[in-house]
Amino acid sequence: MKTDRSDILACLRNSGDYVSGQQLCDRLGVSRTAVWKVINQLKEEGYRIESVPSRGYRLIESPADIYSESEIVSRLHTKWAGQRLIFFESTGSTNPDAKRFAEEGAPHGTTVVADRQTAGRGRRGRSWESPAGSSIYFTIVIRPSFSPEKASMVTLVMALSVAEAIHELTGLDTGIKWPNDIVVNGKKVVGILTEMSMTPEMNEIQFLVAGVGVNVNQGSAEEFPQELRETATSLKMESGRQVDRAGLLARILARFEEDYEAFERALTLSVLKERYESRLVGRDAMVRVLDPAGEYTGISRGITDTGELIVEKETGETVLVYAGEVSVRGLYGYV
Ligand code: ATP
Repeated sequence: MKTDRSDILACLRNSGDYVSGQQLCDRLGVSRTAVWKVINQLKEEGYRIESVPSRGYRLIESPADIYSESEIVSRLHTKWAGQRLIFFESTGSTNPDAKRFAEEGAPHGTTVVADRQTAGRGRRGRSWESPAGSSIYFTIVIRPSFSPEKASMVTLVMALSVAEAIHELTGLDTGIKWPNDIVVNGKKVVGILTEMSMTPEMNEIQFLVAGVGVNVNQGSAEEFPQELRETATSLKMESGRQVDRAGLLARILARFEEDYEAFERALTLSVLKERYESRLVGRDAMVRVLDPAGEYTGISRGITDTGELIVEKETGETVLVYAGEVSVRGLYGYV
């Protein structure tokens, strides 16, 4: 949520120069004392803010990877995505939190963020490893006007937004492993879990929640549990640089807002498909489809306008793979 703190931070950051105490008061409609209090608090938290009596305040430096509600909100440039933001130092999992807020009427775009999850979740009841201090975990509430069969496409929209936001900020070549994982150099850095709540009559969507976990600043494979070391990585491990989580989250939310609006106008993925497919890993290569009804292999040929994976079997038959119960693997490993 916007607060005096996040507004003052945003004013200082966006100006890049001195902003007088009076300007801050006028712009935000708060008292001089309130401004002074917030500035002191920020300094205590490690923000370097210069105060020059005749000129005002200037933000010189933010603490490294500061991850708090005001830091994230002060970086948002969105209309609805994250405009209501709830931040937890620790929670079970942001998806059930977001569902609870949505049940209570939270508006479209409400976003729950946590620094740590004690019961992070993946698809089919799997778990998502969620240590403190290094990753992004967030869930956004979406209130669509479209019908339930279109909901699964939102996962692909989110995957595209996250993959592009990471690429823009870090330069890393992010690939999408259909439908919902993002990989860098063959290892997973992002998982996405979209869930749907239906109206009591079960014919309309009440809301969707899209949860995202990003491994950001883990420094080495040892920070992951043994069983993930072969398949998981972090943005820092791949880029060699510490990544500012608040900045990345703000960028993901901005990208998602734009991509979601484009999707909602078209109600198919046609407008985003080219970008999605350009990041699709294993395209035109052999993949193994782990279908509970029976595993099979084939050549991945991209996605349909509604988000199914197109797989050409050796028999020549083309299969459309629906997300949900299915995982896809490269022939010799994870991707
Ligand atoms: P897959 O194709 O990997 O089976 P999935 O979509 O079925 O993908 P998800 O639900 O997205 O899997 O994620 C859960 C799985 O991801 C877990 O079973 C585990 O193997 C792996 N995992 C858990 N935590 C992390 C993490 N922090 N980073 C990378 N991978 C993780």
